[in-house]
Amino acid sequence: MVINAVPSIEMVRFVNSGTEACMGMLRLARAYTGKEKIIKFEGCYHGHADSFLVKAGSGVATLGLPDSPGVPKAATSATLTVAYNDLDGVKELFSTNKGEIAAVVLEPVVGNAGFIVPKKEFLGGLREITLVEGALLVFDEVMTGFRLAYGGAQEYFGITPDLTTLGKIIGGGLPVGAYGGRKEIMQMVAPAGPMYQAGTLSGNPLAMTAGIMTLKRLQQPGTYEYLDSITGKLVAGLLKAGHEAGHELCGGHIRGMFGFFFTAGPVYSFSDAKKSDTGKFAKFHRGMLERGVYLAPSQYEAGFTGLAHTEDDINFTISAAKEVFQSI
Ligand code: PMP
Repeated sequence: MVINAVPSIEMVRFVNSGTEACMGMLRLARAYTGKEKIIKFEGCYHGHADSFLVKAGSGVATLGLPDSPGVPKAATSATLTVAYNDLDGVKELFSTNKGEIAAVVLEPVVGNAGFIVPKKEFLGGLREITLVEGALLVFDEVMTGFRLAYGGAQEYFGITPDLTTLGKIIGGGLPVGAYGGRKEIMQMVAPAGPMYQAGTLSGNPLAMTAGIMTLKRLQQPGTYEYLDSITGKLVAGLLKAGHEAGHELCGGHIRGMFGFFFTAGPVYSFSDAKKSDTGKFAKFHRGMLERGVYLAPSQYEAGFTGLAHTEDDINFTISAAKEVFQSI
């Protein structure tokens, strides 16, 4: 079902979490290209493996310093970071690390720095650069997969990466991750090829069954139109209520993924997102909790809607937000 749905995936390996999917994907990208360095973007999260826990240092070509105690310097020294939506920064990294970059890894729509969309030319630009430079383009669709469209962000934007990671939705609430891509690349993975990766619980029947049932539900006509309609209504309502109460607020959504920042915006990068008034967000979040609405507990997390949400839920949320915006 995953192969049929996701444009870039001809062969897939199931694992047990998004973190594990990103670990496997990274080893594969390095094994396939024979190169070690990777480019990741400030504010993007790809699970808690050592190589991805790099301080989102400002500016281009910041060599990775570990973000968490316990991560050895050596584990992140091949992780280069650059601002999201900064194509020139990416080009500069390629020119200062000529022939050394295995992959460009990103969230095609960011959820882990709040909700940030790629600029029009960004994903296509990355596709071109990686093809020219002989690096792989990797979409981490752990959040966006089966959420922005049945075929994920890559179907939504019409840009096909070389490798894709998935998680969350494909397990229907049970622990699952997956990575996949072109057959020629995936055949590097053991037992077909020499890149070792395995797992006792990978592809276990319980998680697979939950995933299959969820994907079947998502295939029903009108699913993504419904998510788009309720989420659009929710975000428009929140922004209107916030602006009427005099707050600086920006936000947006794609299908069932959304977010808002307490700043005038626009937000195209993590440093833009960090202009948000997080104290205000905290008050807003607490006010919403008191009224029974449980939003993601950080200014730097996207929100998701689901098929269980009704129009009434949306209206209830907007009226609760009106009260809270007035009170903060
Ligand atoms: N990649 C992305 C884009 C994610 O959002 C997450 C989790 N939020 C992960 C990877 C890691 O997934 P997990 O928590 O299942 O390990």
